[in-house]
Amino acid sequence: MGLGSFFKRGKKKEEVVEECHIDINAVECDGCEKCSIACPNNVLMLVGDVMSVRDAQVCKTCRVCVAICPNDCITVN
Ligand code: SF4
Ligand code: SF4
Repeated sequence: MGLGSFFKRGKKKEEVVEECHIDINAVECDGCEKCSIACPNNVLMLVGDVMSVRDAQVCKTCRVCVAICPNDCITVN
């Protein structure tokens, strides 16, 4: 067994699953609501004074919210 086959072992093709994952940094969020107003799919909602995910399933990963947030609180994967 050569070195090449050693590295090939266990390397499986991973299935790519399209799944939206939204993270909001609650510490940095000041509740300005720019993201929820800009979101075309009504995914985000203010709960108390922190932005929250209302329904991640309807997110189309357009990342408009990421672009508009003045505090860089949102990541969408
Ligand atoms: S990525 Fe687009 S659809 Fe998803 S929460 Fe942000 S603005 Fe809304
Ligand atoms: S735009 Fe950013 S700071 Fe403003 S509510 Fe949304 S996540 Fe919070």
